[in-house]
Amino acid sequence: MATTHQKFFIDGQWVEPASSSRINVLGAATGESIGSCPEGATADIDRAVAAARRAFKESAWASYTPAERGAALNRFADAIEKRGARLAQTVSMQNGMPINVADQLESGFVVGVLRYYAALAAGLVTEETRPSPLGFNTFVRKEAIGVVGAIVPWNFPVALSIMKIGPALAAGCTMVLKPSPETVLDSYILAEAAEEAELPPGVLNWVPGGRDVGAYLVSHPGIDKVAFTGSTNAGRIIAQECGRLLRPVTLELGGKSAAIILEDADLNAVLQGLPSTSLLNNGQACFSCTRILAPNSRYDEIVDAIAGSVSSLVVGDPLDRATQIGPMASSVHRTRVEGYIAKGKSEARLVAGGGVPQQERGWFVQPTVFADVDNAATIAREEIFGPVLSIIRYGSEDDAVRIASESEYGLGGTIWSVDRDRAASLARRVESGTVGINGYLPDINAPFGGIKASGLGRELGPESIAAYQQYKSIYMLG
Ligand code: NAD
Repeated sequence: MATTHQKFFIDGQWVEPASSSRINVLGAATGESIGSCPEGATADIDRAVAAARRAFKESAWASYTPAERGAALNRFADAIEKRGARLAQTVSMQNGMPINVADQLESGFVVGVLRYYAALAAGLVTEETRPSPLGFNTFVRKEAIGVVGAIVPWNFPVALSIMKIGPALAAGCTMVLKPSPETVLDSYILAEAAEEAELPPGVLNWVPGGRDVGAYLVSHPGIDKVAFTGSTNAGRIIAQECGRLLRPVTLELGGKSAAIILEDADLNAVLQGLPSTSLLNNGQACFSCTRILAPNSRYDEIVDAIAGSVSSLVVGDPLDRATQIGPMASSVHRTRVEGYIAKGKSEARLVAGGGVPQQERGWFVQPTVFADVDNAATIAREEIFGPVLSIIRYGSEDDAVRIASESEYGLGGTIWSVDRDRAASLARRVESGTVGINGYLPDINAPFGGIKASGLGRELGPESIAAYQQYKSIYMLG
């Protein structure tokens, strides 16, 4: 049954929207309405930013100790944990994420991230006394940066929200979040959890809407910092605006990561890893290794094995636990992915998939593999954001590192080898913000993010708290 929402969660209350326009959310596997909510207008953003400013400056939150902030984050984690199954199911219905993946990454992982930042908040040291070589002491403070405008995409809507909320609240910031219209229903579950956790009013506020509402939030005079996850195109526009305003911004953007399969790799391990490292969330993951680099010596064997393995993946209803590949998140997005598959057919050799599976409804594409791909081809350069893999041949290990690094992007990557030290030394040479050895899983306790067109700044790890803080030096001269 469709979920209908009438209000927004702003200033700790459910409030009437300023406009009567609405967002209708369609299920990726059915194309039918699964819920709706009001669409935010600029007046709603004004109200949410004002509430977040009051919360930052004047509310109980402003005087919370780091330990009290940690306790609030733990209460929020408890409230989310209770709603874990509903969150996973809602995400899965909205964007087509296989339910097993949603359970792990949009439910279990997010609780882990919040508890991690709760613990870090509790131990946060925000002031140190530093003796100056000039003969006096200086208090060096790390202060919360203020009100954060957070914008998230549709592919991992909960995790990407929580990866901003955790460190921002640990630092003492407050936040206005703008979820993506395709996946707005899960944000209502998060708001419900924030209400149950009794976060002081205005600490977290949600205003759903499209890019205009997002752009208004980015340039709002009441925002002190922008945290964005989404496409590189939108990231560039947001970075320009933040540059004009001299407003701090972190950007988690697109990727075109490479899996380097070394000659000694265990091919079974590679095949077992493919669904999570190269095809996670139906290929709708920023760090997916969609370029597969295969050595000359094992090239045909690898192409055959990957083509066979991808052809046998179970495509279907994302709520079915047997499903490995669900539909694309929207009809527009499927059309875009199909365009890349058509382009691939003119650029390389199709060895698996390439069409639309026999489903009665929903925005499915067949998981697809191209072989003999040139690293300069469109399908090897551009982020497709679907289940489409390009296999690229390489000669020496130096070649592999060069090809992996020859990309506009630099977000993820994997190296497959039975020799972990050899793989790790290659990982050090690949131009990328993160690399996995014989698998890929972002570590909560380590900075995650990209270089080049993949973004600016990092999320996760203690480093992420610094993105929500600014320094102040107090010189004790007398
Ligand atoms: P998108 O950039 O179109 O939209 C992302 C969000 O930004 C949405 O909420 C959208 O409404 C908003 N938005 C778009 N243009 C805006 C603007 N000019 N000003 C303010 N807000 C704006 O991206 P998408 O298609 O929803 O998501 C897919 C993209 O996200 C992919 O490129 C993917 O790689 C990237 N992504 C990156 C990471 C990462 O951590 N690096 C993680 C997940 C997704």
